[in-house]
Amino acid sequence: MNSFKKEEIVKHLTCNKNRNILKEADSIRKEHCGDEVHIRGIIEFSNYCKRDCLYCGLRKSNKKLTRYRMTADEIFKAARKVEEFKYKTIVLQSGEDDYYRIEELCGLVKRIKKEIDCAVTLSIGERTYDEYKQLREAGADRYLLKFETSNKKLFVFLKPGSLYEKRLKRLEWLRDLGYQVGSGNMVGLPGQTLEMLADDILLMNKLDLDMIGIGPFIPHPDTPLWRFREGTLELTLKTIALTRMAAPDAYIPATTAAGSVDPAGRQKALQCGANVIMPNMTPQKYRKYYEIYPDKICLNDQPGDCRMSIKTIIESLGRNIARGYGGQG
Ligand code: SAH
Repeated sequence: MNSFKKEEIVKHLTCNKNRNILKEADSIRKEHCGDEVHIRGIIEFSNYCKRDCLYCGLRKSNKKLTRYRMTADEIFKAARKVEEFKYKTIVLQSGEDDYYRIEELCGLVKRIKKEIDCAVTLSIGERTYDEYKQLREAGADRYLLKFETSNKKLFVFLKPGSLYEKRLKRLEWLRDLGYQVGSGNMVGLPGQTLEMLADDILLMNKLDLDMIGIGPFIPHPDTPLWRFREGTLELTLKTIALTRMAAPDAYIPATTAAGSVDPAGRQKALQCGANVIMPNMTPQKYRKYYEIYPDKICLNDQPGDCRMSIKTIIESLGRNIARGYGGQG
Protein backbone atom coordinates (compact mmCIF):
# COMPACT_ATOMS: atom_id res chain seq x y z
CA MET A 1 0.00 0.00 0.00
CA ASN A 2 2.86 2.35 0.65
CA SER A 3 3.25 2.30 -3.09
CA PHE A 4 -0.46 3.10 -3.53
CA LYS A 5 -0.90 6.34 -5.39
CA LYS A 6 -3.66 8.83 -4.83
CA GLU A 7 -4.87 8.45 -8.44
CA GLU A 8 -5.10 4.72 -7.96
CA ILE A 9 -7.19 5.12 -4.81
CA VAL A 10 -9.49 7.56 -6.58
CA LYS A 11 -9.87 5.06 -9.41
CA HIS A 12 -10.91 2.33 -6.98
CA LEU A 13 -13.33 4.67 -5.24
CA THR A 14 -14.88 5.65 -8.58
CA CYS A 15 -15.27 2.19 -10.03
CA ASN A 16 -18.81 0.89 -9.63
CA LYS A 17 -18.46 -2.83 -10.01
CA ASN A 18 -15.26 -3.34 -8.15
CA ARG A 19 -15.93 -6.24 -5.80
CA ASN A 20 -12.26 -7.26 -5.96
CA ILE A 21 -11.14 -4.50 -3.66
CA LEU A 22 -13.57 -5.66 -0.99
CA LYS A 23 -12.47 -9.28 -1.35
CA GLU A 24 -8.81 -8.39 -1.29
CA ALA A 25 -9.30 -6.32 1.87
CA ASP A 26 -11.11 -9.25 3.47
CA SER A 27 -8.17 -11.55 2.84
CA ILE A 28 -5.67 -8.96 4.12
CA ARG A 29 -7.77 -8.73 7.28
CA LYS A 30 -7.75 -12.52 7.59
CA GLU A 31 -4.02 -12.76 7.04
CA HIS A 32 -3.04 -9.95 9.43
CA CYS A 33 -5.76 -10.04 12.09
CA GLY A 34 -7.28 -13.51 11.83
CA ASP A 35 -10.98 -14.34 12.18
CA GLU A 36 -11.46 -12.84 15.61
CA VAL A 37 -13.85 -9.94 15.99
CA HIS A 38 -13.08 -7.67 18.93
CA ILE A 39 -15.95 -6.30 20.96
CA ARG A 40 -15.80 -2.88 22.63
CA GLY A 41 -18.68 -1.88 24.87
CA ILE A 42 -19.40 1.83 24.44
CA ILE A 43 -20.90 3.99 27.17
CA GLU A 44 -22.09 7.40 25.96
CA PHE A 45 -21.98 9.20 29.27
CA SER A 46 -22.89 12.79 28.40
CA ASN A 47 -24.49 14.45 25.40
CA TYR A 48 -23.63 17.98 26.47
CA CYS A 49 -21.23 19.61 24.03
CA LYS A 50 -19.61 23.00 23.93
CA ARG A 51 -18.83 22.69 20.21
CA ASP A 52 -21.03 23.45 17.26
CA CYS A 53 -19.95 20.95 14.61
CA LEU A 54 -22.28 21.35 11.64
CA TYR A 55 -22.91 17.62 11.18
CA CYS A 56 -23.52 16.56 14.76
CA GLY A 57 -26.86 16.36 16.58
CA LEU A 58 -25.12 17.05 19.90
CA ARG A 59 -23.95 20.51 18.72
CA LYS A 60 -24.62 23.17 21.29
CA SER A 61 -27.00 25.10 19.05
CA ASN A 62 -29.36 22.15 18.90
CA LYS A 63 -31.87 23.28 21.48
CA LYS A 64 -34.30 20.49 20.69
CA LEU A 65 -32.15 17.79 22.22
CA THR A 66 -32.81 16.67 25.80
CA ARG A 67 -29.42 16.74 27.50
CA TYR A 68 -28.16 14.26 30.09
CA ARG A 69 -25.07 13.57 32.09
CA MET A 70 -24.37 10.33 33.88
CA THR A 71 -22.78 10.50 37.32
CA ALA A 72 -19.46 8.77 37.92
CA ASP A 73 -21.36 6.06 39.82
CA GLU A 74 -23.77 5.50 36.95
CA ILE A 75 -20.87 5.26 34.52
CA PHE A 76 -19.14 2.76 36.77
CA LYS A 77 -22.30 0.65 36.98
CA ALA A 78 -22.55 0.63 33.19
CA ALA A 79 -18.89 -0.44 33.08
CA ARG A 80 -19.74 -3.36 35.38
CA LYS A 81 -22.38 -4.42 32.83
CA VAL A 82 -19.69 -4.48 30.15
CA GLU A 83 -17.66 -6.71 32.45
CA GLU A 84 -20.64 -9.03 33.01
CA PHE A 85 -20.83 -9.51 29.26
CA LYS A 86 -17.15 -10.41 29.27
CA TYR A 87 -16.26 -7.64 26.86
CA LYS A 88 -12.66 -6.65 27.45
CA THR A 89 -12.75 -3.02 26.36
CA ILE A 90 -14.83 -0.20 27.77
CA VAL A 91 -15.16 2.89 25.60
CA LEU A 92 -16.22 6.08 27.36
CA GLN A 93 -17.55 8.64 24.91
CA SER A 94 -19.22 12.03 25.27
CA GLY A 95 -19.67 15.44 23.73
CA GLU A 96 -17.06 17.97 24.75
CA ASP A 97 -18.38 18.56 28.23
CA ASP A 98 -16.29 20.56 30.68
CA TYR A 99 -18.69 19.80 33.49
CA TYR A 100 -16.61 16.79 34.51
CA ARG A 101 -13.46 17.97 36.24
CA ILE A 102 -10.32 16.18 35.17
CA GLU A 103 -9.85 14.82 38.70
CA GLU A 104 -13.28 13.26 38.53
CA LEU A 105 -12.58 11.62 35.17
CA CYS A 106 -9.21 10.38 36.41
CA GLY A 107 -10.86 8.97 39.54
CA LEU A 108 -13.38 7.13 37.38
CA VAL A 109 -10.71 5.69 35.07
CA LYS A 110 -8.65 4.59 38.09
CA ARG A 111 -11.64 2.91 39.69
CA ILE A 112 -12.56 1.06 36.51
CA LYS A 113 -8.95 -0.09 35.95
CA LYS A 114 -8.63 -1.20 39.56
CA GLU A 115 -11.88 -3.12 39.82
CA ILE A 116 -12.49 -4.37 36.30
CA ASP A 117 -10.14 -6.39 34.14
CA CYS A 118 -10.42 -4.38 30.92
CA ALA A 119 -8.82 -1.86 28.59
CA VAL A 120 -10.24 1.67 28.82
CA THR A 121 -10.70 3.78 25.70
CA LEU A 122 -11.60 7.45 25.93
CA SER A 123 -13.39 9.45 23.25
CA ILE A 124 -14.10 12.81 24.85
CA GLY A 125 -12.76 15.20 22.26
CA GLU A 126 -10.16 17.94 22.35
CA ARG A 127 -8.44 18.39 25.71
CA THR A 128 -5.13 19.87 26.81
CA TYR A 129 -1.85 17.94 26.79
CA ASP A 130 -1.87 17.99 30.55
CA GLU A 131 -5.35 16.52 30.76
CA TYR A 132 -4.46 13.73 28.33
CA LYS A 133 -1.38 13.09 30.46
CA GLN A 134 -3.35 12.87 33.69
CA LEU A 135 -5.91 10.54 32.13
CA ARG A 136 -3.13 8.34 30.79
CA GLU A 137 -1.50 8.24 34.21
CA ALA A 138 -4.87 7.32 35.71
CA GLY A 139 -4.78 4.23 33.50
CA ALA A 140 -6.55 5.04 30.23
CA ASP A 141 -5.13 2.81 27.51
CA ARG A 142 -6.55 4.18 24.29
CA TYR A 143 -7.96 7.37 22.83
CA LEU A 144 -10.22 7.96 19.85
CA LEU A 145 -10.12 11.33 18.11
CA LYS A 146 -11.28 11.27 14.53
CA PHE A 147 -9.81 13.85 12.14
CA GLU A 148 -13.21 13.59 10.36
CA THR A 149 -11.82 14.92 7.05
CA SER A 150 -8.26 15.54 5.92
CA ASN A 151 -9.36 18.53 3.87
CA LYS A 152 -8.48 21.62 5.86
CA LYS A 153 -11.11 23.87 4.29
CA LEU A 154 -13.87 21.35 4.82
CA PHE A 155 -12.67 20.69 8.38
CA VAL A 156 -12.79 24.38 9.33
CA PHE A 157 -16.22 24.70 7.76
CA LEU A 158 -17.59 21.68 9.61
CA LYS A 159 -15.94 22.32 12.97
CA PRO A 160 -16.07 26.01 13.81
CA GLY A 161 -13.64 26.91 16.57
CA SER A 162 -11.49 23.84 16.01
CA LEU A 163 -8.26 23.83 14.04
CA TYR A 164 -7.15 21.02 11.76
CA GLU A 165 -3.46 21.33 12.67
CA LYS A 166 -4.32 21.24 16.35
CA ARG A 167 -6.43 18.15 15.92
CA LEU A 168 -3.50 16.37 14.26
CA LYS A 169 -1.14 17.71 16.92
CA ARG A 170 -3.35 16.12 19.55
CA LEU A 171 -3.00 12.76 17.84
CA GLU A 172 0.77 13.20 18.15
CA TRP A 173 0.48 14.10 21.84
CA LEU A 174 -1.66 11.03 22.48
CA ARG A 175 0.87 8.81 20.75
CA ASP A 176 3.75 10.41 22.73
CA LEU A 177 1.87 9.82 25.97
CA GLY A 178 1.71 6.11 25.20
CA TYR A 179 -1.94 5.79 24.27
CA GLN A 180 -3.02 3.43 21.54
CA VAL A 181 -4.42 5.97 19.14
CA GLY A 182 -7.56 5.86 17.04
CA SER A 183 -8.75 8.28 14.41
CA GLY A 184 -10.82 8.21 11.25
CA ASN A 185 -13.23 10.05 9.03
CA MET A 186 -16.77 10.35 7.77
CA VAL A 187 -17.67 9.32 4.24
CA GLY A 188 -20.01 11.33 2.00
CA LEU A 189 -19.74 14.63 3.83
CA PRO A 190 -21.23 17.61 1.97
CA GLY A 191 -18.52 19.02 -0.29
CA GLN A 192 -16.26 15.99 0.10
CA THR A 193 -14.79 14.76 -3.18
CA LEU A 194 -13.29 11.37 -3.95
CA GLU A 195 -9.87 13.06 -4.07
CA MET A 196 -10.42 14.22 -0.51
CA LEU A 197 -11.42 10.70 0.52
CA ALA A 198 -8.25 9.36 -1.09
CA ASP A 199 -6.28 11.90 0.96
CA ASP A 200 -8.08 10.65 4.09
CA ILE A 201 -6.92 7.11 3.32
CA LEU A 202 -3.36 8.24 2.71
CA LEU A 203 -3.44 10.15 5.99
CA MET A 204 -4.67 7.08 7.90
CA ASN A 205 -1.67 5.25 6.47
CA LYS A 206 0.71 8.05 7.38
CA LEU A 207 -0.56 8.42 10.95
CA ASP A 208 0.15 4.75 11.65
CA LEU A 209 -3.02 4.39 13.70
CA ASP A 210 -3.91 1.56 16.05
CA MET A 211 -7.65 2.04 15.49
CA ILE A 212 -9.52 3.54 12.54
CA GLY A 213 -13.22 4.45 12.58
CA ILE A 214 -14.93 5.03 9.24
CA GLY A 215 -18.63 5.77 9.00
CA PRO A 216 -21.04 7.33 6.51
CA PHE A 217 -22.17 10.89 7.16
CA ILE A 218 -25.84 10.84 8.19
CA PRO A 219 -27.69 14.18 8.07
CA HIS A 220 -29.40 15.16 11.30
CA PRO A 221 -32.65 17.15 10.89
CA ASP A 222 -31.75 19.62 13.63
CA THR A 223 -28.38 20.63 12.17
CA PRO A 224 -27.48 23.02 9.33
CA LEU A 225 -26.64 20.01 7.13
CA TRP A 226 -30.15 18.55 7.29
CA ARG A 227 -30.72 19.01 3.55
CA PHE A 228 -27.71 17.02 2.43
CA ARG A 229 -27.67 13.40 1.37
CA GLU A 230 -26.21 10.69 3.54
CA GLY A 231 -22.99 8.94 2.62
CA THR A 232 -23.64 5.66 0.81
CA LEU A 233 -22.78 2.30 2.30
CA GLU A 234 -21.06 1.39 -0.96
CA LEU A 235 -18.56 4.23 -0.74
CA THR A 236 -18.10 3.58 2.98
CA LEU A 237 -17.27 -0.08 2.30
CA LYS A 238 -14.76 0.85 -0.39
CA THR A 239 -13.15 3.33 1.99
CA ILE A 240 -12.93 0.65 4.69
CA ALA A 241 -11.44 -1.81 2.22
CA LEU A 242 -8.79 0.61 0.94
CA THR A 243 -8.00 1.64 4.50
CA ARG A 244 -7.46 -2.00 5.46
CA MET A 245 -4.95 -2.20 2.62
CA ALA A 246 -3.30 0.99 3.86
CA ALA A 247 -3.24 -0.18 7.48
CA PRO A 248 -3.19 -4.00 7.50
CA ASP A 249 -2.84 -4.38 11.28
CA ALA A 250 -5.24 -1.70 12.50
CA TYR A 251 -8.39 -2.36 14.52
CA ILE A 252 -11.19 -1.21 12.24
CA PRO A 253 -14.76 -1.20 13.58
CA ALA A 254 -17.88 -2.05 11.63
CA THR A 255 -19.45 1.21 12.78
CA THR A 256 -22.92 1.78 14.14
CA ALA A 257 -23.30 4.44 11.43
CA ALA A 258 -22.70 1.77 8.75
CA GLY A 259 -25.38 -0.36 10.44
CA SER A 260 -27.73 2.61 10.54
CA VAL A 261 -27.73 3.29 6.77
CA ASP A 262 -28.24 -0.39 5.92
CA PRO A 263 -29.50 -3.18 8.19
CA ALA A 264 -26.66 -5.41 6.97
CA GLY A 265 -24.12 -2.59 7.02
CA ARG A 266 -22.03 -3.95 9.87
CA GLN A 267 -21.96 -7.48 8.44
CA LYS A 268 -20.81 -6.08 5.12
CA ALA A 269 -18.13 -3.97 6.80
CA LEU A 270 -16.84 -7.05 8.62
CA GLN A 271 -16.49 -8.72 5.23
CA CYS A 272 -14.33 -6.04 3.66
CA GLY A 273 -11.72 -5.28 6.28
CA ALA A 274 -13.38 -4.51 9.62
CA ASN A 275 -12.57 -6.61 12.72
CA VAL A 276 -14.20 -4.74 15.60
CA ILE A 277 -17.79 -4.16 16.68
CA MET A 278 -18.93 -1.71 19.34
CA PRO A 279 -22.18 -2.62 21.10
CA ASN A 280 -23.99 0.23 22.77
CA MET A 281 -23.85 -0.17 26.56
CA THR A 282 -25.37 3.20 27.43
CA PRO A 283 -28.24 2.73 29.91
CA GLN A 284 -31.55 2.47 28.10
CA LYS A 285 -33.03 5.65 29.58
CA TYR A 286 -30.28 7.84 28.11
CA ARG A 287 -29.63 6.06 24.87
CA LYS A 288 -32.08 7.84 22.61
CA TYR A 289 -30.64 11.22 23.61
CA TYR A 290 -27.15 10.47 22.35
CA GLU A 291 -28.40 11.38 18.92
CA ILE A 292 -25.30 12.33 16.94
CA TYR A 293 -27.35 11.33 13.89
CA PRO A 294 -30.96 10.08 13.57
CA ASP A 295 -32.17 6.47 13.45
CA LYS A 296 -29.21 4.98 15.23
CA ILE A 297 -29.54 1.24 15.51
CA CYS A 298 -30.00 -0.65 18.80
CA LEU A 299 -31.82 2.30 20.41
CA ASN A 300 -34.57 0.17 21.86
CA ASP A 301 -32.49 -2.89 22.59
CA GLN A 302 -31.48 -3.77 26.08
CA PRO A 303 -27.73 -4.27 26.27
CA GLY A 304 -28.48 -8.02 26.33
CA ASP A 305 -30.32 -7.90 22.99
CA CYS A 306 -27.40 -6.08 21.51
CA ARG A 307 -25.14 -8.85 22.67
CA MET A 308 -27.35 -11.46 21.02
CA SER A 309 -27.46 -9.68 17.71
CA ILE A 310 -23.73 -9.12 17.79
CA LYS A 311 -23.01 -12.75 18.54
CA THR A 312 -25.36 -13.76 15.71
CA ILE A 313 -23.68 -11.39 13.30
CA ILE A 314 -20.21 -12.65 14.13
CA GLU A 315 -21.08 -16.34 14.05
CA SER A 316 -23.15 -16.13 10.88
CA LEU A 317 -20.04 -14.84 9.12
CA GLY A 318 -18.03 -17.82 10.34
CA ARG A 319 -15.97 -15.58 12.59
CA ASN A 320 -15.45 -15.79 16.33
CA ILE A 321 -15.48 -13.42 19.28
CA ALA A 322 -12.03 -12.39 20.53
CA ARG A 323 -11.46 -13.02 24.21
CA GLY A 324 -8.35 -10.89 24.73
CA TYR A 325 -8.08 -7.13 25.09
CA GLY A 326 -7.35 -6.54 21.41
CA GLY A 327 -4.34 -4.24 21.50
CA GLN A 328 -1.81 -4.02 24.26
CA GLY A 329 -4.57 -3.61 26.89
N1 SAH B 1 -16.89 14.58 21.09
C1 SAH B 1 -16.07 13.47 20.69
C2 SAH B 1 -16.91 12.30 20.23
C3 SAH B 1 -17.70 12.64 19.02
S1 SAH B 1 -19.04 11.59 18.55
C4 SAH B 1 -15.09 13.94 19.64
O1 SAH B 1 -15.20 15.04 19.14
O2 SAH B 1 -14.16 13.19 19.33
C5 SAH B 1 -18.17 10.34 17.70
C6 SAH B 1 -18.16 10.42 16.18
O3 SAH B 1 -19.46 10.46 15.65
C7 SAH B 1 -17.51 11.64 15.59
O4 SAH B 1 -16.12 11.56 15.63
C8 SAH B 1 -18.08 11.66 14.18
O5 SAH B 1 -17.20 11.02 13.26
C9 SAH B 1 -19.37 10.84 14.30
N2 SAH B 1 -20.54 11.65 13.91
C10 SAH B 1 -21.00 12.77 14.46
N3 SAH B 1 -22.06 13.25 13.78
C11 SAH B 1 -22.27 12.39 12.75
C12 SAH B 1 -23.22 12.33 11.68
N4 SAH B 1 -24.16 13.26 11.50
N5 SAH B 1 -23.12 11.29 10.81
C13 SAH B 1 -22.18 10.34 10.97
N6 SAH B 1 -21.27 10.34 11.95
C14 SAH B 1 -21.31 11.35 12.84
